[in-house]
Amino acid sequence: MVLSSCSSAPATPASTSSPSGNETGAASPAAVSGNRFTIGIAMPTKSSARWIADGENMVKYFTEAGYATDLQYAEDDVPNQVSQIENMITKGVNALVIAAIDNKSLSEVLQTAKDKNILVIAYDRLIRDTPNVDYYATFDNFQVGVLQAQYIEQALGLKEGKGPFNIELFAGSPDDNNTYFFFNGAMSILQPYIDKGQLVVQSGQTSVDKVATLRWDGATAQARMDNLLSAYYTDKRLDAVLSPYDGISIGIISSLKGVGYGTPDQPMPVITGQDAEIPSIKAILAGEQSQTVFKDTRELAKVTVQMVDAALNGKEVPINDTKTYDNGVKVVPSQLLVPVSVDKNNWEKVLVESGYYTKEQITQ
Ligand code: BGC
Repeated sequence: MVLSSCSSAPATPASTSSPSGNETGAASPAAVSGNRFTIGIAMPTKSSARWIADGENMVKYFTEAGYATDLQYAEDDVPNQVSQIENMITKGVNALVIAAIDNKSLSEVLQTAKDKNILVIAYDRLIRDTPNVDYYATFDNFQVGVLQAQYIEQALGLKEGKGPFNIELFAGSPDDNNTYFFFNGAMSILQPYIDKGQLVVQSGQTSVDKVATLRWDGATAQARMDNLLSAYYTDKRLDAVLSPYDGISIGIISSLKGVGYGTPDQPMPVITGQDAEIPSIKAILAGEQSQTVFKDTRELAKVTVQMVDAALNGKEVPINDTKTYDNGVKVVPSQLLVPVSVDKNNWEKVLVESGYYTKEQITQ
C-alpha cells in the first residue's frame, strides 16, 4: 500500500550540505555538491549493537541515494537526544529519522521541526503524543512477542497439555512504545496457559508495570532476577523466562548461573530474547539462551531511506499499515517488516547465509 507523500515536504533542498557531526565521516563525492537534502538521524545509544548497525546502514543507504547525513547517538540520555535534534534543526536538515529514547519527550522539539517543514520519521520506536510525526518504519512488534512466547509454548510442550511449569516475565523500558506491543504479543500466547495453571508465575508479577526494565538495562534485569530467585525459587525450579531483548537475557543468564543453573543437573530455563546480538547467539550455541528474534536492520534502514526519498521528492510513500500505530493523537502510517525467530537450528541460515554476520564472528 502507498500513501501520498506528506504535504509538508520541503520543496527545495536546504543549502547546507556539510554532513557535520556525521560520525562515520563517510561523505560520498556527491556530498560536496551543496545541492542535496540532509537527513538528521537520531539514535538512542551505542550500548546495544543493533543501534550501531541501524545508524551505519542508514548512513550507507542515504549516502548511496545521494543524501548527506548527520548521525548522532544520545547514550540513552533524554535531554541529550532532544538537544541533538534541536541542533539538527538549527543546521537545516530536511528530514529527521528518530529512534526515541523516551517516546513522550519530543513533542516540543518536533513542533519546531514541523514549523520548519521538516519531514519526521519515527524509526523502530513510535513517537507518541504529537501530531508532528509523518511516518513510522518498524517491524511487526506484536509479532515479536508472539514469536518469543510461541518458542516457550513449543519448548515446554504446552499445546500438548504439559505442565505446570514455573515462568517469570520481563518486559522492556516503560517509556518505549514497543515494550507494550512485545509484551501484549507474548501474553496473547502465554495468558491462556497461566489461566489454565499450566504456567505458574510464582512471583505473581504479571503486569507490564511490575515487570518492565527501565532503559532495557541488563544489570537492572539481573538484579530483579536475583531478587526473584531468592524470594521464590530457593526450593523450586524456574522453567522459563520471557525476556524481551538479548541484553536483558544476558543479565538474566548471569543471575541464574550465580545460583547454579546451567549444568547438566540443573539446565537453564527456556530463555527468549531479541535482536540476535552476537553474545546472545554465542549463548544460544552454549545452551544458555534458547532463542532470539532477528530484525534485519539492513532492511529497516533500506525502507526508511525509500520512505524519506519518496516523501522529499513528492512521490508516494511506501507503507503497509494504517491501523495499528495510534500515537495518542493520530494513527501514524507505517511500514512494518517481518521479524524472524532464531535458535540453535536456524542461526546459520538466517544470520550467516544472509551475510548479516560472518561465521567467525559467532564461533570465535
Ligand atoms: C527495539 C528492540 C531493542 C530494544 C532495546 C526496542 O525499541 O525494538 O529491537 O531490543 O529497543 O534497545
